[in-house]
Formats: sequence, structure tokens, C-alpha cells
Amino acid sequence: MGAPPTRPADRAFAKPRRRLLAAVAALVALLAVGAGVLVGLATPAPREASAPAGEFSAARAYRDVEVIAARPHVAGSAANDRVREHLVDLLRGLGLETEVQDAVAPEAGQLSGAAGGATLARVRNVVARLPGTDPTGRVFLVAHYDSVQTGPGGNDDAAGTATVLEVARALTAGPRPRNDVVFVLTDAEEACLCGAAGFAADHPLAADGGVVLNLEARGSTGPVIMFETSRNNAKLVDVFGRAAPHPVGTSFAVEIYRALPNDTDFTAFGGARFVGLNSAYIDGGAIYHTPLDVPARMDRGSLQMHGDNALGLAREFGRTDLGDLRSDHDDTYFPVLGGLARYPGWLTLPLAVAALLAVGALGWLLRRRGRTTVGTLAAGAGLALAPVVVAPLGAWLLWAAITTIRPGYAELLDPYRPVWYRLALVALAAAVLLCWYALSRRRVGPAALAFGGLLWLALFGVLLAVLVPGGAYLTTLPALAGAVAGLAALATRLDGPWPVVAVTLAGAVAVVVLLPPVVLLFPALGMGMGAVAALVAVLLGLALLPVVDLLHPRAGGQRGLLALRARRLGALPAGAAALATVVLAGVGLAVDRFDADHPVPTHLMYALDAGTKKAAWLSHEEVPQPWTDGYVDRTISVADDFPGLGDGELRAGPAPAASLPAPKLETLSDTRDGDQRVLRVRVTPQRQVRLLTLHVDTRTATVRSASVAGRDVPVKAREGRWGFGIVFHAPPPEGFEVTLTLTTSADTVNVRAMDASDGLDALPGFRQRPASVGVVGSHSSEMLAVAQTYAL
Ligand SMILES: [Zn+2]
Repeated sequence: MGAPPTRPADRAFAKPRRRLLAAVAALVALLAVGAGVLVGLATPAPREASAPAGEFSAARAYRDVEVIAARPHVAGSAANDRVREHLVDLLRGLGLETEVQDAVAPEAGQLSGAAGGATLARVRNVVARLPGTDPTGRVFLVAHYDSVQTGPGGNDDAAGTATVLEVARALTAGPRPRNDVVFVLTDAEEACLCGAAGFAADHPLAADGGVVLNLEARGSTGPVIMFETSRNNAKLVDVFGRAAPHPVGTSFAVEIYRALPNDTDFTAFGGARFVGLNSAYIDGGAIYHTPLDVPARMDRGSLQMHGDNALGLAREFGRTDLGDLRSDHDDTYFPVLGGLARYPGWLTLPLAVAALLAVGALGWLLRRRGRTTVGTLAAGAGLALAPVVVAPLGAWLLWAAITTIRPGYAELLDPYRPVWYRLALVALAAAVLLCWYALSRRRVGPAALAFGGLLWLALFGVLLAVLVPGGAYLTTLPALAGAVAGLAALATRLDGPWPVVAVTLAGAVAVVVLLPPVVLLFPALGMGMGAVAALVAVLLGLALLPVVDLLHPRAGGQRGLLALRARRLGALPAGAAALATVVLAGVGLAVDRFDADHPVPTHLMYALDAGTKKAAWLSHEEVPQPWTDGYVDRTISVADDFPGLGDGELRAGPAPAASLPAPKLETLSDTRDGDQRVLRVRVTPQRQVRLLTLHVDTRTATVRSASVAGRDVPVKAREGRWGFGIVFHAPPPEGFEVTLTLTTSADTVNVRAMDASDGLDALPGFRQRPASVGVVGSHSSEMLAVAQTYAL
């Protein structure tokens, strides 16, 4: 397969200088489009405290952030009581009907995998209502005010809570909306989404449903992304596109989010009564759920963006007819230069098929015009799969190498300063693509490779349209644009600069569609899954091949030294990208070192059996950091001794026994009828704890039904000796009642009670962390558990 002969249309660019000029012009145009894409994703400037009362001011909201996130305030703690008082005072001060919903609520979704069994919490939601003038329904602005136990939640979710407060201020300062607006500040989100679940299930204001706008943060910076919607979202997405001043959102994110093991309060509003949108900023994930999630680390531009969008949406949903928000289909939508492009989801498959047909037509025309042969086209298609496979693999290997050099990254969602590593992976994707192109171009020529790239984009588009429809636009639209540009250039026998204009326009479509996911996937998935962003970067590269080709001296015609020189020039971009990969990764390693402001995360727990007085240090670090290594020396399973800690393998080491009491268990009543037994017990914490668990030894009894604090709970079987369990977050100091209906032939039933608190640093044998050693952002970090078995 030789290089195809030059056609008349190409002669204008046969001369190296003209070709170079065209390449520079096309690249400058695409860089300008790329810059526009980045500007469209940027956060706005935070507005000052003196901004008009009807506007959202990040400076005013930030004052509430500082009060809310002054210290860790896990559900049930005294610190959380103080936060709640601040919220109630503030909302009442605005003249809103404000109350605290105090309830025992079950979990939303299926989160309790670790401890097993049924999960509940005692929650206190702050609920305030701004009555509408002529309501057609209710708009709910939702954020959670509790934090994890390990950190103050400066972003997660003081950002959402303060945003709701500032939106309430702005709405009460202006004319009343037509619809009711309800401000819902939930409790115990971090534990089990129980606050939101309790509100959605039991609160009178939730009985008729409505529109839910949930506000979250999983990091400290970056654009606010509307990443989740209720089903059949077309009308909601339309309002989002019109009313949110910074509408960053994509139907692809919804699909990704559904595949990730994450949940927010939004899950609790999943019932048929509710529709809604879920938004969060997610970059700067290194501090997520750690002691470093303090107000000072918050990017106030992200806070402003949250507020601008929330206020715009609250006003729009406050005036529209809420009876009319349900659609019969989902939309495909994605950010385009500061706006939101959207089209009905049912167009996804026809568009994908159209793109495939257009690429087919391009191949047919290429052959007909004698630019290539069927065999060459097939070879181009086969070759084009190579970078799609090699680039993500290379990205994965590069990150594996970097984490080998710096093992502390294993416990981080994302490095503290990830930008160098992200750029390194993009450079790696470019190096793979350019190297592959320089090698393959000589064999099959640029036309067949461009065709091959578009063919795979179109095929992925069809595949996505069937499997992940919200993501199909990512490859369908660049394939369609590229094929149409190619057909236009060939069919109309465009002359002069027009072929370059056509491929540059198609390239611009690819940049607009595929650059945002490259930028947003890095923070969304973390560097550990940076290979996914590298894959999208390569797909963008495939769509840009006709522009890339301009960087290469024209193939064919040259002999001897000239051909050698052409080959060398062709290898230049690939070499430059490979060098950039190495340099950027090196800069990343040099810049992103662990220090007092960016500590290496460590995970430690303490578990005490109050019956046997045996204690252990536990860690879920697979390769313990030096600090953790001082505590642990073996790998064990705690499933039998501490069922409340789950059944996974943990690193462990001996610890001195602290004199701490396990939860108290009192039998209130006990009735037996043959092998049936109904046991009513009271479980009371003996110290300030954040959760209590109770597990039944199902070798001694079978649990038929159970109720906790008067609420029936599902009887879910769990693996192992402790085959039934309940988890109660934020238990009240006076404890709670559990009623177990059992079938048993044994005289006694074994029940294991465990509680968990913080306060690791007060334990005997605990050594303070040096400044450069931090805490892993995990719900079990710094957990102090005390357990005891009772024979009842
Ligand atoms: Zn959280």
C-alpha cells in the first residue's frame, strides 16, 4: 500500500510553506475554541458583601460557611446542635416559617453494606417555608448541614447549606414567588442520608412532592456541575439551560454517576413525587472528608457559581407551573461555550446511525475519487484502534509508576495539586496518537487514517446510543461533523483554503464536544482513573487527524534525503509530546510533595472488646504508611469480633485496653411461646458516640422481624456468624428500644453491641501524627469502637 497520489485540490497545500501556514492558522483557530471552552467552564468572580440584597453574594454566604464549619459537627454531636441553632435563628430572622423535624429515620438507598443490616438515625432537619402567592407546587432547596467526624465540612456541605441560606435571603428580599419555596437543611447525610429520607418520607411539606434542587460539594474548587437529574428530564434540563447563569452539566455525567458507588441526599428524593437536579463542585478532591476541608480552603468562585445557579433556578421554578415539569423523555445536553446545548434523547440513535452512514459515504467517495482503496480503508480502520487502546493503557501504567514512587497517593481521591499529572496524561495521549500517526501515515496515507478515526467515533456513537444514550453525543457529533467536512471537501472539489477551513470547523465541533469531558473527568474520577480522561483525549485526537496531518510534510514524491527529512519532521510533534509527558510528570512529582499543608493521608481505628479487655489498632491502608506501620503488623478480619466494622480484611496490631464501657443492654420484656421468642431490649450508649450497632448471632436464633425505636426495619441477612444487624447513627443519650421476634431452640441468644466515637488521640498508646501526616477522608477514619457480647 503506497501513499496515494496528490490530487489537484491538495496542490494548494503541496508547498511546505503554504502547508505550514495552513497548519498554524488551523491550530490557532482550534486553540481559540479550546480557550473559549475553558472560559465557559470557569467559575465567576465572587461577589462582595455589599452586593444588592436580591443578588447572591459569595462573601455574605461565606460568613455562614465560617460559622457552620467552625469545627467537625457530626450528626448527634453538641457541635451540630450549635450549627442547627444558627440555621434556625437565621431563617426565623428572615421571617420564614421555620421548624426542626426531630425524627428517627431509615436510610435512603442501600448504603449499609459495610456494617450490614438495617440502618437508621435520629435526625433533626431544619425546614423553613416561604409561602408562594398562588402555588402550583413546591420547590425544595436541599443541602446537608452535618459534617463527617474527621473534618469540619467547610465545603461538604457548608457550601450547600450557606448557599441555601443566602438564596433564602435573596428571595425574601424581593417579591414573593408564585410557588412555595421550602428550604430543607438535612441532618445525618454523611451517616446514611437519613435526614433527607426522613423528610421525603414523613414530613407534611414533602407529601405532595415537588422540584428538588440539591446542592453538594466533593472538593474545594472547580465549576459547579449539574451531574444528576430525575428521570424524563427534558423539561427540567430546559429550565436549567435557560435559568442557570452558568449551566455546566452533561447527560454523560448522569450516566457516569449512576455507575459510581456514590450517593447524596438527592437519592432520598427518588420517589415518583419528586423531580429535580443535583449539583456539586468536585475539583480539589484531596481534602474531601478530611480535617483539611476547612472554610479557608474554599474557592469562593465555586460558592458564587453554586449561588448564582441555585438562585436563578429557584426564581424560575418559583414562577413556572410545576404541574407541567414531567416530560416523557430524557434530553441529551452538554456545555457549549458558556451555554447548554440540548436535544431530545430519542434523537440519539438516529443521529448515531446518520453519523455512521456519513462516515460510510466518506469512505465510498474517497475510494471513488481514487484517493484510497478498500484495502487501505480497512487497514486505516484497523490501525485507528491502536491509539484508543494504547493511550489509556499507557496512562494507567504512568499513574501506576507515579504511585509506586509516591505510595501516599493510594489513599487520596486526587493529588493535592493534580494539574501537572493531568497535563502529563494529556501529553501522553497526544504522544501516543502522534507517534502512531507518524508511523501509520507512511503505510496507508492520511485519508484512510482520518476515515478510520471517524469510523471508530461513529461506531462508539452507535454503541453508546444503545448502552449509555446520554454519552452518545460525545463521539456521534464529532464523527458526523468530520464526515460532513470530508464529504464537503471532496464532493464539491473545494479548492484553495476551503478544505482546511472545512476540517478546522469539524475540529472545532470536536473540541467543543470533547474538551469539557477531558477537563471534567479528571476531578470526577481522580488520577487513579485518569486513563478514562486519556481515552477521551485520544478520541478528540482522532477527530482532529485531518488538522494533525497539516503538521506533516506532504507524503509522496520525495526521494532519498528529502524523504528522510520529511520523516524526521513528521516525528517531531510525537517526540515533543513524549518529552512533555516526562517533564510534566517530573514537575508533578517535584511540586506535589507531602508537607504540613498537604499531609500524607493515614487511616487508623481502635477497637476494644469490653468483655475480654482485648484491644487492637486497625487500619484499612493496604500498604501502611510509616506512621501507621508503627501500629499494625498483620492482616485480619474483624467480622466475628466487630461486625459493625464490616467483613473486609484490615491491617491490625495489638493495643492497650482503654477503660471504656460498651453500650448497655437491658431486657425490658421477654416472652417465649415454644420456639418463638419476642425480646424487647433497650440499648443505651455509655459515652458520647456517633453510632451504635447491634448484631444477632444467627447460630443461636433466626430473626423473623425487628423494630427499632418503634419503626419496623427490613430483615436483611448478612454473611457470617452475626447474620442480622442494625446500625443506629446519632443515638439519643437515653438510648432506644429494639424489639426482636425470633425463632430459637437455644436457651440464650447472643447479641453483640458496639458503639463508635471519635477521640483516638485520648487513648493510651496513641502517638500524635507529625505535621506532614494527615487523615484519610473516610467515614471510618479515627473511629474508636467498643463492643461487648450479651447472652440474653
Ligand atoms: Zn460528604
